[in-house]
Amino acid sequence: MKHANERRTAVEAVLSACRLCRTVQSALISAESIAKKDKSPVTVADFGAQAVVASRLRQAFPNDPLVGEEDAGALRGRENAELRGKVVASVQRIAPAMSEAAILDAIDRGNYEGGATGRHWTLDPIDGTKGFLRNEQYAVALALIENGKVVLGVLGCPSLPHDASRPDGPAGCVFIAVEGQGATMRTLDDPKERPIRVTSITDPSRASFCESVESAHSAQDDSAKVAEMLGITVPPYRIDSQCKYAAVARGDASIYLRLPTKKGYEEKIWDHAAGSIVIREAGGRATDVRGHDLDFSLGRTLRNNLGVVVTNGILHDRVVAAVRKVLGV
Ligand code: AMP
Ligand code: MG
Repeated sequence: MKHANERRTAVEAVLSACRLCRTVQSALISAESIAKKDKSPVTVADFGAQAVVASRLRQAFPNDPLVGEEDAGALRGRENAELRGKVVASVQRIAPAMSEAAILDAIDRGNYEGGATGRHWTLDPIDGTKGFLRNEQYAVALALIENGKVVLGVLGCPSLPHDASRPDGPAGCVFIAVEGQGATMRTLDDPKERPIRVTSITDPSRASFCESVESAHSAQDDSAKVAEMLGITVPPYRIDSQCKYAAVARGDASIYLRLPTKKGYEEKIWDHAAGSIVIREAGGRATDVRGHDLDFSLGRTLRNNLGVVVTNGILHDRVVAAVRKVLGV
């Protein structure tokens, strides 16, 4: 199978990062850090997860560059010795042989600019940091881009229930997709994978849609108008991170709307690369609000796109038409 080695390595790397995030997140259970809105746990986990994934990728594919959300610049300063120490400790629980210098170097591998030629990886070590802080949903998102096209994606969702109909049941899922090979889901603890598929809903009024919890990331007033236009009556399913792509890919919902809030905002490639291939390989579609393909060939952002619309495929053209009408684009 094409990309078998990349697939195995990416899954291993994401699993390790998920474990690191879970361990760091357990510190959040302390009411104190929630009350103080203390962001340090998320910072430790962000850097730590990027170090774990970047070093695993470097081992397996030393020539592949990485576009990662974080870099270690701030961590190196003398004033950040305490934070640095926590990051190093979090990584060494997973990879005891890694020195502080190796950890910082691994994080800095994420500095690549991306672009249209050759191949590179892209990583969001913790997508949905606000969800992580609220003890809700977040994701570790890793994708491989070849000549500007996403060819492999792995989405680790450490808090996502195995079964959406049992929200309080066991949680921790990993979604895996390779171009032309379909999409699968496994749990964090069990390597057995099962194929996933979008819903087959054809009537938009029977669909449900997901969107960001954070109204600063997606215009919830506009999505309410789109929903009304489509005859959707169920309230939006609000969850953080690329877990929204996963939710549509496995049929928990049929639509994910990410409607622009701020003029000039450019979506980041690490916020969409893994999710976009998971949805495509599960039979769905992802475009921007005008129905244009997401263009991953332009560097670190999707600067030619505006917002994102994800559906089960069947509903796509109708949803995009409603979005265009509401936004006037
Ligand atoms: P979500 O969890 O879906 O709300 O998305 C989280 C991501 O939103 C973060 O990783 C940020 O990169 C991204 N983000 C930050 N500001 C904005 C914005 N104004 N519009 C859209 N996305 C944003
Ligand atoms: Mg993100």
